[in-house]
Formats: sequence, C-alpha cells, structure tokens
Amino acid sequence: MKKIVVVGGSIIGSSTAYHMAMAGAADRIVVVEPDPTYALAAAPRSAGGVH
Ligand SMILES: Cc1cc2nc3c(=O)[nH]c(=O)nc-3n(C[C@H](O)[C@H](O)[C@H](O)COP(=O)(O)OP(=O)(O)OC[C@H]3O[C@@H](n4cnc5c(N)ncnc54)[C@H](O)[C@@H]3O)c2cc1C
Repeated sequence: MKKIVVVGGSIIGSSTAYHMAMAGAADRIVVVEPDPTYALAAAPRSAGGVH
C-alpha cells in the first residue's frame, strides 16, 4: 500500500493532499496538523486584511 504524509494542514498542505488524492497518487494520504484552530498559520492571518 502506497502512503503519503503531508506535514501541515493549512492552505498549501490541504490543497496538496486534495490534488494528490484526486490524482490517485496513493492508497492513503494523511495530513498531520497539530493546531486544529490554525491560530498561528499564515493563511488565515493573511485573509484578515480582506474588507
Ligand atoms: C499578513 C499576511 C499577509 C500576506 N499577504 C500575502 C499576499 O498578499 N500575497 C501572497 O501571495 N501571500 C501573502 N501572504 C503569504 C501567504 O498567506 C502564505 O505564504 C500562505 O498562506 C502560506 O500557506 P501555507 O499553507 O504554506 O502555510 P501556513 O498557512 O502558515 O500553514 C502551515 C501549517 O503548518 C503547520 N505546521 C508547522 N509546523 C509543523 C510541524 N512541525 N508539523 C506539522 N505541522 C506543522 C502549522 O500549524 C500550520 O497550520 C501573507 C501572509 C501574511 C501573514
């Protein structure tokens, strides 16, 4: 069984995992993300400037 582990589940990690899953790149893809709130991730912080 082919497995892929993506470290970091914010915008880039989740997008990478999604597209690899859609492409059938592995039997199992695991995203490792220690912070379910994404409090310190850059992606939600950058969106804080949208008005
Ligand atoms: C205020 C601000 C404004 C910005 N403006 C722009 C802009 O105008 N244009 C532009 O192109 N970019 C901009 N950026 C940059 C852009 O937002 C980031 O480059 C992008 O969001 C990064 O996404 P990412 O998923 O790589 O990282 P992040 O969103 O930072 O996610 C990284 C994830 O990895 C996890 N992680 C960290 N260490 C580990 C570990 N050891 N094991 C497991 N998980 C781990 C974290 O918990 C986090 O969830 C801006 C950023 C900020 C903060």
